[in-house]
Amino acid sequence: MIRLEDIVQKYTMGHSELTVLKEVNLHIPAGQFVAVTGPSGSGKSTMMNILGCLDRPFSGDYWLDGDLVSTLDDPSLAGIRNQKLGFVFQSFNLLAKNTALDNVALPLLYAGVADGKQRAEYALERVGLGDRMCHRPSQMSGGQRQRVAIARAIVMQPPVLFADEPTGNLDTRTGDEIMEIFDDLHHSGTTIILVTHEPEIAERAQRVLFLRDGIIERDTFTQKALAA
Ligand code: ADP
Ligand code: MG
Repeated sequence: MIRLEDIVQKYTMGHSELTVLKEVNLHIPAGQFVAVTGPSGSGKSTMMNILGCLDRPFSGDYWLDGDLVSTLDDPSLAGIRNQKLGFVFQSFNLLAKNTALDNVALPLLYAGVADGKQRAEYALERVGLGDRMCHRPSQMSGGQRQRVAIARAIVMQPPVLFADEPTGNLDTRTGDEIMEIFDDLHHSGTTIILVTHEPEIAERAQRVLFLRDGIIERDTFTQKALAA
């Protein structure tokens, strides 16, 4: 599903150049649930931005679902994001003035999907919010807001879902409920890549990548995967 070959990413600031990813190689088969962890500044977000087609690498090849995407232009990348990728963020990133239903329907609107309302309703039901469709974000708890964000991320039924610290703003119990939704999506075949600094959250994946200084320092299967 995902293959990175010798991916290098650099940032230039004034006259100095910072190499943030140092020839990263990675293969993620379809349907795998992967956690990405590592110290602050190790390159997790930089790698996620490339994997999520939000950024192009300085050099190296990125193959996504059979396509070489590392050289695509911005409109093509936007199309891939809309059709194949879903995103969940720590801070939910919902539109405050829109209802849950309208927030979830947004990707369908961009894609020009006709039966949008029904699909948005189905996505909200899937995350257990069938009775909150007309609420606005300010009328919902943090956990409910994150459920809306997950519904928005899966409404196009993308094969790959990215989540950057999705439980970072939630208490432990609510975070657990959110992780159950990710478990559920994993069991129905979605490839999931989740950034977290919490070891208990990482252990819920099948595989943990530990980044340090722009290198994948460790790549291990979790106890959960080994027990399965
Ligand atoms: P993490 O998500 O693991 O905390 P990041 O990928 O955000 O790490 O950052 C890796 C390194 O790249 C850090 O040293 C950070 O300061 C630097 N960096 C990130 N984004 C930029 C940018 N847009 N411009 C310059 N440097 C950046
Ligand atoms: Mg980060």
